[in-house]
Amino acid sequence: MPRLSEVIAALDALWPPERAEQWDAVGTVCGDPDAEIDRVLFAVDPVQEIADEAITLGAQLIVAHHPLYLRGTTTVAASHFKGRVVHSLIKHDIALHVAHTNADTADPGVSDALAGALDLRVTGPLVAENNLGRICELDHPETLSEFAARAAKRLPTTSQGIRVAGDPTMIVRRVAVAGGSGDGLFDAVRAAGVDAFLTADLRHHPASEAVQHTPLGLVDAAHWATEWPWCEQAASQLDEISDRNGWGLRVHVSKTVTDPWSSHHNSGAPN
Ligand SMILES: [Zn+2]
Repeated sequence: MPRLSEVIAALDALWPPERAEQWDAVGTVCGDPDAEIDRVLFAVDPVQEIADEAITLGAQLIVAHHPLYLRGTTTVAASHFKGRVVHSLIKHDIALHVAHTNADTADPGVSDALAGALDLRVTGPLVAENNLGRICELDHPETLSEFAARAAKRLPTTSQGIRVAGDPTMIVRRVAVAGGSGDGLFDAVRAAGVDAFLTADLRHHPASEAVQHTPLGLVDAAHWATEWPWCEQAASQLDEISDRNGWGLRVHVSKTVTDPWSSHHNSGAPN
């Protein structure tokens, strides 16, 4: 059985921590470097449900995409929900490791996994300087509506489902995809000249301006759903490393939906 430090070294090689954004908080949140690791659980959010799942599973390591503490803290008291997560983990000898913007910009990274989930052919990065987002081609042209239906079918189910902006009958051949919040990437999307943009967390003004300026179609999924495919990709990467090293790790991907939006009421089609 490998030690935590050996597993972390392998994960750091996949997603070098120095490639994380300055404001980010990646790396090991808790865990003993000498602890032996047998089971690993991958998840998007390091929330209590995931800690509980790791306890039930008997995992010794959670690898999460989102940081637990992004801005630092002065307390891990269990009276706070984040402190409770830390207590649950330490009580059960479970380590927590975060790969966030270093996984976004890796090769393969979060957006490669998103593209893969939809069977899109990646032709290059959306933002070359930091390898963020991907430009992709479809095997055959389809309408924006068909493309959105593909996203709805291939991504994990959420209450939000898929929101679409733009003419549903427009033909889509090339798309940009970005796992997680993508509305800071519109300049790159416009420069790429793609037909549609699949991402999450699009706000009113950037979305409105994007559809007014160009015939760009927008496909907005739940943030969690756009990043979840990375868990499967990352799990299979670690599985391969485990096989190569004879570690015998048992690697799991959480199917717990931790998207905070939990229900949806359709108000009907506007006139
Ligand atoms: Zn995210």
